[in-house]
Amino acid sequence: MRGVSKRFGGVQALSNLDFDLARGEIHCLVGGNGSGKSTMIKIISGVQDPDPGARITVESREHARLTPVESSALGVQVIYQDLSLFPNLTVAENIAIAQHRGLTGLVRRKKMRAVAEAAMRRIGVALDLDERVSHLSIANRQLVAICRAIAADAKLVIMDEPTASLTRHEVDALLALTLELKRRDISVLFVSHRFDEVLEIAERVTVIRDGVKLGTYDAKDMTEQRLAVLMSGRSFTYE
Ligand code: ADP
Ligand code: MG
Repeated sequence: MRGVSKRFGGVQALSNLDFDLARGEIHCLVGGNGSGKSTMIKIISGVQDPDPGARITVESREHARLTPVESSALGVQVIYQDLSLFPNLTVAENIAIAQHRGLTGLVRRKKMRAVAEAAMRRIGVALDLDERVSHLSIANRQLVAICRAIAADAKLVIMDEPTASLTRHEVDALLALTLELKRRDISVLFVSHRFDEVLEIAERVTVIRDGVKLGTYDAKDMTEQRLAVLMSGRSFTYE
């Protein structure tokens, strides 16, 4: 992305942002509340248009903006915090919700089960295909959402604060799954406040504050303390 800005009335949510993401990379996005992280995600996923002048280049093709359909066709899948699942439908139905829309009845159910099973197997997730999603824990619902992204042929999975409501054990499982996505050559853009988990999985970390990118850093050159200082805007000097 080059020169991506977004203004809402008097709020400059993003200012002239440049951002690069490589195939198969785990890239973490860090920033305080209101720093523009979700706005950036919405521009990548086509939910919001950037202000004029932006360029978004995907696999050598340049776009001034993306629609949700274009973004999805390019392989972008977002796991929102609310997960956007259908609680009264089964695991299989949720994972394969977008597939085989032309079919109905038993034929469609069989095809959806096959799609869901393949997506789960691809990334090593084990869930009961026939369980209603409303019966699952938050962590398992999140797995359903990730499998749905895989079934939709994601090349880039974006997770917006995915660990906010997970236990430590569940966070570890999600971080392991994120590494598995990378092994499958799927890129991950991982938004988090938790510097420990960011540094555990990221290859690069981008820090934004008040809509301005402070920088993109190799995770191996970063420390939790330095990230905290960058994000908060405090200086390194003693008072
Ligand atoms: P973050 O996800 O980092 O918390 P957001 O991207 O949600 O930040 O918001 C960045 C800024 O833009 C905030 O000041 C927020 O209030 C504002 N903002 C976001 N979306 C809208 C909107 N649809 N209308 C008006 N202001 C918005
Ligand atoms: Mg947000």
